[in-house]
Amino acid sequence: MDLFALEFFQRALIAAVFTGLAAPVVGTYLVQRRLALMGDGVGHVAVTGVALGLVTGLAPTWTAVVVATLGAITIELIRERGRTGGDVALALLFYGGIAGGILLTGLDGQSASTLNSYLFGSLTTLAAADVWFTIALAVLVVALGIGLAPQLFAVAQDPDFARVAGLDVRRYNLLVAVLAAVTVTVAMRTVGLLLVSALLVVPVATSQQVMRTFRRTLALAVVLGVIASVGGLLVAAWLSVTYDAQVATGATIVLLALAMFMLSWPVGYVMRRRARARTPFPAAHAHDEEHVETGEHPHRHGPDCGHPAVVHGDHVDYVHDGHRHAPHGEHYDEH
Ligand SMILES: [Zn+2]
Ligand SMILES: [Zn+2]
Ligand SMILES: [Zn+2]
Repeated sequence: MDLFALEFFQRALIAAVFTGLAAPVVGTYLVQRRLALMGDGVGHVAVTGVALGLVTGLAPTWTAVVVATLGAITIELIRERGRTGGDVALALLFYGGIAGGILLTGLDGQSASTLNSYLFGSLTTLAAADVWFTIALAVLVVALGIGLAPQLFAVAQDPDFARVAGLDVRRYNLLVAVLAAVTVTVAMRTVGLLLVSALLVVPVATSQQVMRTFRRTLALAVVLGVIASVGGLLVAAWLSVTYDAQVATGATIVLLALAMFMLSWPVGYVMRRRARARTPFPAAHAHDEEHVETGEHPHRHGPDCGHPAVVHGDHVDYVHDGHRHAPHGEHYDEH
């Protein structure tokens, strides 16, 4: 049997490619802002959105987009108010999302089993409309995520500096939250709402093992995302053809992404050691603070950049909003 000739399999393949493209783009900003679990939270809230669609007979993908977006904005607004209390508020939102979804689908016996395909992913049940929906939203996410990369990067890297530089930090944070919600909805048919965060985060974590700059991390993460989602689909299909096993694509996709992370870890370790050995004058960093690379920086520090310059041992640090950066070869070190 030639799977690739089957229409449902072609649809699944296209959806997997676009999901794999979009998820790591948003994931990169979430990881950079240390919000790796944001996608997971939005996924929980989206369960209620799907259930709403199933019970009311509206398209679950659209009701999920609306509810997930409202949830993501709520999460961002709670998060903005700081750590204390925010944690509990977020937890309540997540539990409410799951419980609301289960309650709603319980009202209608049929939808309870359909909900499963959204929780764990089920690429083989995609209709043509679902595929177009996935493509359109994925293109939107990738276009905004890459088109606005300089602003989004600056805001995620150093919000205080971005604010001083005149960027509307709040608006960009909300944009990332909305993009996360849209991505979760795109990925829910592929990986499922319960595992969706893994496809946002794991390819980025893997890429970070071997890439040092923001742009390269983003580029490799997208490649890994596509490999994981397409590869996971193929593994699930192979299990089903060979062993007649009904494995959810979410499980195979996430396990494949995790396997790549495990492989990247030793590679990254060796690369970091080599990079250290190549650094010509390690003694130049003889001041006793840690040497942390900041990757790309919102602007080029220099004598006229407007930030106070402070002599620090053998080099000059530039100060802004409590951070101190030292130009060092191609990159900045942060103390
Ligand atoms: Zn220094
Ligand atoms: Zn700076
Ligand atoms: Zn350095």
